[in-house]
Amino acid sequence: MIDAHTHPQLPGEEPIVGASHTPEDYLRLTKGLDIRFAAAFVMAPRGDLPRTRALNDKVLALGKQTDGRFFPVCSVHPHDRAKALIELDRVVNAGARALKLHPNTQQFDVADPAVRTVVARAAKHGLPVVFDGYSPFDADQPGKFVRLAMAEPDARLVVAHAHGPQFAALTVYEVLARYPWWRRNVWIDLSAAASLFADGPFAEQFAWVLRKVGTDRLLFASDYPLDMPRAAAGAVASLGFSRTELASVFYDNAARLFGLPTRQPKRRPEPAR
Ligand SMILES: [Zn+2]
Repeated sequence: MIDAHTHPQLPGEEPIVGASHTPEDYLRLTKGLDIRFAAAFVMAPRGDLPRTRALNDKVLALGKQTDGRFFPVCSVHPHDRAKALIELDRVVNAGARALKLHPNTQQFDVADPAVRTVVARAAKHGLPVVFDGYSPFDADQPGKFVRLAMAEPDARLVVAHAHGPQFAALTVYEVLARYPWWRRNVWIDLSAAASLFADGPFAEQFAWVLRKVGTDRLLFASDYPLDMPRAAAGAVASLGFSRTELASVFYDNAARLFGLPTRQPKRRPEPAR
């Protein structure tokens, strides 16, 4: 599996939950789960470039120390404008595999032109941009992501949490796919949402909507430590996808998107002659 969304507690950083959640904690917790790679996120503050650089350096170091098992997803703050772009260029050269932006935590509007500027620069580098994609405070957010993806067709956007309880808004991607100009440049990370809706009355609807997006655009993700990888994987597995679909969701889609090694098909033993 590839876990497309984790927040490991980096050296010198405070935990974001009531318990330690270091990379070592994660590896201990996921023993036996066969998670080959995990995206490690940081979140840039606004107007504090030294802090942003320090966070990015820590997650880049984690990537190196773990031979890429945790792959670095760096961050900038769109309101830092030119300085954000300089930092973005720096982290790309230093090995970042994606960029993380969080409208709620970082307090920006997805429709802000400064966001598009950052996304355009990331696209120039071929870097996917992972957005937190559920805001209880901005009901128009689903449409804003569509606008952004249309405005920057070369960008590859990941919408985390499948819009939460607004997941039905994802059906717009099935409609968009009818137009020849649509590039299908939006991926959906299932963290939090799959666990929230699995085993409940929305589970069937959630899976139905996700199939409209396309199972080649779905990413297994845990949002560790806010959710536990084992529970998150169980939730995705319970949604009724076929084995082939699950292989895409659990590994292949993320491998292609983030440029990670692709899965080797299992070799059957030679038949005896
Ligand atoms: Zn998260």
